[in-house]
Amino acid sequence: MEISFAGKRALVTGAGKGIGRATALALARCGSKVTAVTRTQADLDSLVAECPSITPVCVDLADWGATAAALQDIGPIDLLVNNAACAKLQPFLEVTPDHFDQSFNVNVKAVLHVSQIVARGMKARGTGGSIVNISSQASQCALKDHAVYCATKGALDMLTKVMALELGPHQIRVNSVNPTVVMTEMGRLGWSDPDKAKSMTSRIPLGRFAEVEDVVNSILFLLSDKSNMTNGVTLPVDGGFLAC
Ligand code: NDP
Repeated sequence: MEISFAGKRALVTGAGKGIGRATALALARCGSKVTAVTRTQADLDSLVAECPSITPVCVDLADWGATAAALQDIGPIDLLVNNAACAKLQPFLEVTPDHFDQSFNVNVKAVLHVSQIVARGMKARGTGGSIVNISSQASQCALKDHAVYCATKGALDMLTKVMALELGPHQIRVNSVNPTVVMTEMGRLGWSDPDKAKSMTSRIPLGRFAEVEDVVNSILFLLSDKSNMTNGVTLPVDGGFLAC
């Protein structure tokens, strides 16, 4: 299946590393003009060196005011990927208010905010659009030491559905992908220990973690017109983990 984003303008958050970076590069390869948003300038420098057509925006998405200022001149966007997130593991009884606030600010509140900015433009132009939020299998399955992360991704799944409901009439589709573990920097934090990794892969019918490309391909499908009638879904990219 050929997917082209020629003539489209995309914005990807958390595009400095991991899934977000690979998504930004894939969108550019498919012909989209890409704006890459992340908070570490060195990552943006290397991304632009790798793909000079990408427009970099450096901002901490946990900061509402700074985000509004950084994105005020981004121009029209047709495709939005809300990918940035943080994951710090803490046993439930040791969760701190700072960790809770930081996680919800990035994983949920910033998704709402960036989507508002982008969707207002889509609505005003009347051209529709597609938004993909990067959730997780953790939105639907309890994982030890992931209390706050699971809660943010559960909230994100419902945000996705309400956005789909309210933005659908403007021909703006909103879906999420919900991956299992991917061995990015974030994945390595929680799952590098071989015994722990085995405890997870043994519960995945396909018997392995997801590759970055597995997730990127599902994101591209949901952004594209190949999924024109798909709206409000949370698409597992988990080898069957959530089916069991
Ligand atoms: P990485 O940690 O590899 O990359 C995350 C990117 O988001 C980094 O570039 C990071 O920048 C950026 N980011 C984080 N916080 C902020 C912030 N406050 N403002 C701006 N940018 C920020 O993560 P992954 O690629 O693994 O994860 C991408 C998405 O996939 C996330 O939503 C994650 O929850 C989800 N996911 C990941 C899984 C996994 O196992 N890896 C499994 C399921 C879902 P910096 O490095 O500078 O902080």
